[in-house]
Amino acid sequence: MSSVLKRTLTDLTVADLMIPAEKVAHVQEGNPIEHALLVLVESGYSSVPVLDLNYKFKGTIAKTPILKSIMGIERFEMEKLSETKVEAVMQKDQPTLMKDTEFLTSLKIVIDHAFACVVDEEGYFLGILTRRAILKEVNKSMYASE
Ligand code: AMP
Repeated sequence: MSSVLKRTLTDLTVADLMIPAEKVAHVQEGNPIEHALLVLVESGYSSVPVLDLNYKFKGTIAKTPILKSIMGIERFEMEKLSETKVEAVMQKDQPTLMKDTEFLTSLKIVIDHAFACVVDEEGYFLGILTRRAILKEVNKSMYASE
């Protein structure tokens, strides 16, 4: 049995469940939205974190706002893909978590978000916590308590 399984849900913190930064696909705020769209389509993720050049978390970017931003009246204005920067389209007001955030606080955040970004005290990006990781632990704990 893994050490995570032995503990109860309330003992878990974000650090136990997060995907570390080096395994997370991301884009930079200065990238053209064309690059973000390529990353999103190639990775299959609906949304990925946006970082600055120093690796600080800035927001998230998703496919739908990118497509809306290039939508003209009668056609997609494809030239906008290379002209528009990620920072103009990204969602900025995203909740963040710290490594020591408790499980129940993270659970509340992933009710409304498929994932939340984990940052340190200075805002540097450390990874993400997904709704899947939270639900897996809830599922495990339900079977363990039978
Ligand atoms: P999941 O719960 O695994 O389906 O992931 C939920 C969302 O988290 C995905 O749709 C992505 O937006 C994001 N995500 C999960 N894993 C990664 C990753 N390795 N890199 C970037 N984003 C990710």
